Amino acid sequence: MLETLHRIVKEVNAASDLEQALAIIVQEVKQAVQADVCSVYLTDFERRDHVLKATDGLHPQAVDKVRLPYHRGLIGLVCERAEPVNLADAPNHKRYLFTHETGETSYKGFLGVPIIQNRKVLGVLVARQIDQRSFEDNEVTFLFTLAAQLAGAITHAQASGNLNTQSDLAPPKRFLQGQPGSPGVALGTAVVVYPPADLEAVPDRPSKDPDEEEDAFRTAVAAVVQDLMAIEDRFEESLPAEDRALFEAWLMMLGSDSLIGNTVRRIQQGNWAPGALRETFQEHARIFENMEDIYLRERASDVLDLGRRILMHLQQKVATLDEYPENTILVGEEVSAMQLAEVPRERLAGVVSASGASFSHVAILARALEVPAVMGMSNLPVSRMEGHFLILEGYLGRIYVSPAPSVIAEYRRLASEDQALYQELQADKDLPCETTDGVRIPLYLNTGLLSELSNQGMAESEGVGLYRTELPFMVRDSFPGESVQVANYRKVLKMFHPRPVIIRTLDIGGDKPLPYFPVEESNPFLGWRGIRISLDHPEIFITQVRAILRAAIDLNNLRLLLPMISHVQEVDDAMLLIQRAHDELLEEGYQVKMPKVGVMIEVPAAVYQVEALAQRIDFLSVGTNDLTQYLLAVDRNNAHVADIYNDLHPAVLRALIQIIKGAGQYGKEVSVCGELAGNPAAAVLLLGMGVNSLSMNGGSLLRVKWVLRSFSHSRAKQLLQTALRCEQAGEIVNLLSNALEEMGLGGLMRAGR
Ligand code: PEP
Ligand code: MG
Repeated sequence: MLETLHRIVKEVNAASDLEQALAIIVQEVKQAVQADVCSVYLTDFERRDHVLKATDGLHPQAVDKVRLPYHRGLIGLVCERAEPVNLADAPNHKRYLFTHETGETSYKGFLGVPIIQNRKVLGVLVARQIDQRSFEDNEVTFLFTLAAQLAGAITHAQASGNLNTQSDLAPPKRFLQGQPGSPGVALGTAVVVYPPADLEAVPDRPSKDPDEEEDAFRTAVAAVVQDLMAIEDRFEESLPAEDRALFEAWLMMLGSDSLIGNTVRRIQQGNWAPGALRETFQEHARIFENMEDIYLRERASDVLDLGRRILMHLQQKVATLDEYPENTILVGEEVSAMQLAEVPRERLAGVVSASGASFSHVAILARALEVPAVMGMSNLPVSRMEGHFLILEGYLGRIYVSPAPSVIAEYRRLASEDQALYQELQADKDLPCETTDGVRIPLYLNTGLLSELSNQGMAESEGVGLYRTELPFMVRDSFPGESVQVANYRKVLKMFHPRPVIIRTLDIGGDKPLPYFPVEESNPFLGWRGIRISLDHPEIFITQVRAILRAAIDLNNLRLLLPMISHVQEVDDAMLLIQRAHDELLEEGYQVKMPKVGVMIEVPAAVYQVEALAQRIDFLSVGTNDLTQYLLAVDRNNAHVADIYNDLHPAVLRALIQIIKGAGQYGKEVSVCGELAGNPAAAVLLLGMGVNSLSMNGGSLLRVKWVLRSFSHSRAKQLLQTALRCEQAGEIVNLLSNALEEMGLGGLMRAGR
């Protein structure tokens, strides 16, 4: 059964549209459980009914015609219960409803299982039998295991099919739902980005010159033939002739019409070479995958491997996109910070990533650049998106593909409202961040992710509260040397001088791997990350600290911050190394000073040891992004659990209060530098708690300032007391929205996050 299940899921995943996907499901399931009929009903959430979308066994004409209103019949029962209904004699059940349009006689055996995604019943998969039949346990579990896996494939095929059938006459009003990544509205053209040599990720893209594409493709194939012959020669001595026959088989494939001829035909029909290659080779691999013979099935991976080899050569020939259209919306399976950086800022209108969530670093970066973004758009048929006109709605995490003119008009209006709000905020630019009752709370800037791309917030902030140093390490192919680093850090220290700049030591690992320092871990956020790597590799840490100290010579505005602290010993060890770097430099004649050193509180263990930490260092900075992830045990990058990642969870608020209290006992200042600080509504609570400063992306500075200048400190404290009585994050969010609404600041809530 397991093998059948994998095969069906694979075939369905490869289907080009919903109709094809459902046809595969009903045929295969009917055969697998030897039923007389198999059908799929899908829920129409607008019309509030369930529509027959595919059947093997009933009248095909009934498809799309038979509609069962919510709560009617056995289909309604399966949806209400959201669990399988297995009846040996269905017509005897009180909810049985006979539908004559389907041509059914009274089938007795009935097994209906719900198709569920994100707690929503998307439809019902039904198997029917003329005779009485109670389906066996293993058949029930087979169907519902299949249904659980099919939900994603169905929504994917649905979105893909929408793209196939869209015409200018009937553009859709419906949207695809993802996770909010960065607020704002963008209207623009999709440009698909993908990692190199990843055949599956290659998008379709119209070519400018099919003959040139064909030449490039043929040259790449010839290069792979050369490679294979060279490898075969090398094995001549060591491999017996029958094993070397495999090379002959591969070479034959590379001369075959089904692979080469079909790719060329697709190129001549207008797809660029990598897209035509992907389509043809995947299609061919699927034929092998469906073969019963194990040996032949294995050939599928050979076909894909050959495809990847050709792609690698093609990618050396085919220029990467050098011209991005105006209002580029970058779309990818997993858009990276690097890919984002490649697009000139003035061309970049938005970002859509099929994976990741609001607190992934690429989303944080998008917010820093004030580029609207949607994350975790897992149903998006990425490879088919190139060139489509998109509306991206970053507040609620939605996109519209080739939307109707009425939708475009509505969103153009929203975009200009945002622009107006932005202008209004500028009025506070030069005013201090001070509450109506005179309490000042300095606002600092988070920078470093790609600081050179944006000057946002540079003038308005009172300094840098978090300079992330990972980027210069990520864009190279080896660790940067001391002098390269000195130049980098000096740039930022000088730019803000005499305002303070807090430089955080390297925080790689987690979702920030270094290409030249591979760390393969199944749980990277719980693994070798941040200070742990720095302490295990003192040579990396000391080089960085030396560079930072040298960069600050004569400027004296440096503070040092240590990430991911979970044991006091880590602080002690790091302090010794910092001292050592300092002493070495003095000996070498550099006039360095020992800077103030702080730690990030972003692991629950550090919350409970805040007093011990406070005694060892000069200041604390709370990283609520990681603190939330670790307190709630929710991966900040995982779209599946994004709904339960909430940095306004009561546990996070309580942790913050404990940190402030503990640090206060030793007179140490507490800043918050996670994304929570840049949420204008949450900033009010942080003010109420007595946080000493906030550090945020440039895009949030004026919004937060606007709100804090409208509130009094005493009102903030009152709100905090009410918030602390809430048991759920949702109640806290509502409380804050209402408070802002009362002050006439409702527009900012939408803009806030
Ligand atoms: C945090 O975890 O809140 C933080 C500021 O650090 P980063 O987002 O870089 O992990
Ligand atoms: Mg962190």
